[in-house]
Amino acid sequence: MKTTKHKVSLCTNCSTVLDASSHKGDHSPEPGHVTICIMCAHVMTYNGDMSMADISPEDLRRSHPIEAYLNVKEMAKKVEAFCHSKGRETSNYVNKM
Ligand SMILES: [Zn+2]
Repeated sequence: MKTTKHKVSLCTNCSTVLDASSHKGDHSPEPGHVTICIMCAHVMTYNGDMSMADISPEDLRRSHPIEAYLNVKEMAKKVEAFCHSKGRETSNYVNKM
């Protein structure tokens, strides 16, 4: 797992200040990539300036191959379970996927 610092941005659901992302392998976050808020499991995408933007589950499914979509869903489920284990309220995004 690698962590990359990026532009400070707010989660579009819970307004948590996010300034880094953790990811598998040597990938680094880029515009258009998907990210999941560690505080509420909300799924977002990076804008061109690396701020975060909402992406609906429908748009996510349309813009990504099914395998990538399912990978995001699986990861979002894990983050949601982590959030619940900490007693945090989640965005309920996973249930809409
Ligand atoms: Zn959040």
